[in-house]
Amino acid sequence: MQLQLIIIGIVCITILLFLVLKKKQEKTVIAPIPEAWRKILEQKVVFYRRLLSLDQRRFEDEVMRFLSEIVIEGVKTEITDEDKVLIAASAVIPIFGFESWKYTNLKTVLIYPDYFDQNLNFENPEGIAAIAGLVGTGRFENQMILSKKALHHGFDNNSDKLNTAIHEFVHLLDKSDGAIDGIPKALLENHQYIPWLQLMHHKMEAINKDKSDIRNYGGTSETEFLAVASEYFFSRPKLLKRKHPELYKMMVACFKQDLAKRKSFTK
Ligand SMILES: [Zn+2]
Repeated sequence: MQLQLIIIGIVCITILLFLVLKKKQEKTVIAPIPEAWRKILEQKVVFYRRLLSLDQRRFEDEVMRFLSEIVIEGVKTEITDEDKVLIAASAVIPIFGFESWKYTNLKTVLIYPDYFDQNLNFENPEGIAAIAGLVGTGRFENQMILSKKALHHGFDNNSDKLNTAIHEFVHLLDKSDGAIDGIPKALLENHQYIPWLQLMHHKMEAINKDKSDIRNYGGTSETEFLAVASEYFFSRPKLLKRKHPELYKMMVACFKQDLAKRKSFTK
C-alpha cells in the first residue's frame, strides 16, 4: 500500500514538473524579427550580409532571443532600434558557430553616450576618457558597459579591425569558465590550452616588440590578446589568415567558424 502511494506521488510530481516546464517553454517563444530591424542587419552588419539565407534566418532568431533575455539601458542617452540590433549582433557573432549558447553571466548592457574614464565618468572625466567598453565586476557583476560611439564605430568602419562590442562579448566568453585569463576553456578542448598559451605569448611578444599588425592593446595581457585578436578575426578574417595563419587556425577551432572560407569575405 505504502509503495503504491509512493509510486502515485512520483507520477504526480513528474506530471506537474512536465506541465511547469512546458509552460516555461511556451513563454520563451521568440518573436520574428521586425522588417526594419532586418534592414539594419543588412545595412550595418557585414557578417550577417555574408551568411547564406538559411543562416541569416538563424542569426535573426538568435538576435531576437538575445534581446528577449537581456536588458539594454541607456545612461543619459536614448536607446534606438539600431543600438539594440547592433548590440545583439555583437553578442551573436562570436557564438554563431555553436548550436545554442546563452550568456549566463550577463543580465544588463548599459549604454553610455561617449567614451568614459576609469571612474565611469563620461561628462566630466577626471582621467582620460578612453574606455570604450567593459565587462563589470563587483557591484557591476553581470553587466556590460558600452560607449554608444564605440559601438557604432565598430560597424561603420570595417577595415580597422576594431569592434568594441565584439571585444566585450569575447571577454564574457572568456569569463564563462570562471576566470578571465585569455583561455576560453568553454570553447577549447583540453589538449588545446597549452598550444594556445604558447601561440598567444609568441604573438604578444611580437606586439610588444612593435613587430605586429595586431593592435598594441593586445600585448597588455592574455585576456586582452584574446579579445583584440577576436576583433581582428571577425572583421578581417582573410587578412588574419594571410598574416597569422596559425592564429587564424586557432581562432577557427575556438569559435567553430571558418570565416575566410565564406565566398564574399574579400579582405
Ligand atoms: Zn578588453
